[in-house]
Amino acid sequence: MAMISPLEVGLMFWGEHQPERTLPAIKLIGMRCGHLGFAGHVELNFDIASKWRAVADAEDFGITAVFAAFQGESYADIPTVQQTVGFIPPATRELREKRSLEVIDAASAMGVPIFACHIGFVPDDHTHPDFVAVRDMVRRICDHALQYNIAFALETGQETAESLLHFIEAVERRNLKVNFDPANMIMYGTAEPIPALEKLATQLVSVHCKDGVWPDKTKPGTLGHEMPLGEGEVGMDRFVATLKKIGYTGPLTIEREVSLDQDMDDRHKEGISHLDDIRSAIRLLNSLRETA
Ligand code: MG
Repeated sequence: MAMISPLEVGLMFWGEHQPERTLPAIKLIGMRCGHLGFAGHVELNFDIASKWRAVADAEDFGITAVFAAFQGESYADIPTVQQTVGFIPPATRELREKRSLEVIDAASAMGVPIFACHIGFVPDDHTHPDFVAVRDMVRRICDHALQYNIAFALETGQETAESLLHFIEAVERRNLKVNFDPANMIMYGTAEPIPALEKLATQLVSVHCKDGVWPDKTKPGTLGHEMPLGEGEVGMDRFVATLKKIGYTGPLTIEREVSLDQDMDDRHKEGISHLDDIRSAIRLLNSLRETA
């Protein structure tokens, strides 16, 4: 595995079966680490994972986390997210648990220490059947990951820091951690991200550098939208300064998604897009690494 410097800039990208094309393409843009996501339709097994590892080693590229998205997820608006994303929809729970274990097995074969995904809108009420079912599911996934010393990082955004901390406490697994995505907190209209980041500091294992704007208050249920890094309402200088203050030394992984009104599979097919935005995000983050 490549040696990654503190706060090195990386990229969140989606993989299929061509690491020998994907990883050199990311290096050409100027990065040598990133989070590798697998959409739900992508076949994964030991041989495919071993190929990713071999190409990453040959390219001196650090895959620092593996993300799972699931078939049938849609981020069209908040009610649709509630009904389709993560572990909340009961009909897909069993399938998504099986897929999570598969992705963790792949992460282990790649030598990657973090597995992450959105688990969806978890209710605050600890006696709610969805809370209990998702808590138990996350326990089983954490236990599977722990045998490889892999952390399960919850992607933030759909709940407040307090709710997330209560959920983590209830799960009672030491390898349950947080991937902090400041733009999600804004786009879901959840809360100001910087105070949330401070509250989640002890659980933090990775971050997404993404920017966005708050939802339109006159249209309930809609999401805010993503913006090029530095042009949204996160305040990237405060974000990076806060990461330094809390002692975070992992990579700064840029996530630049396409519009949120397509379903996940379509979004992932587009591959690396917004190249100019990514290039200017690299410049911004590299300057904040020095100055913020
Ligand atoms: Mg994210």
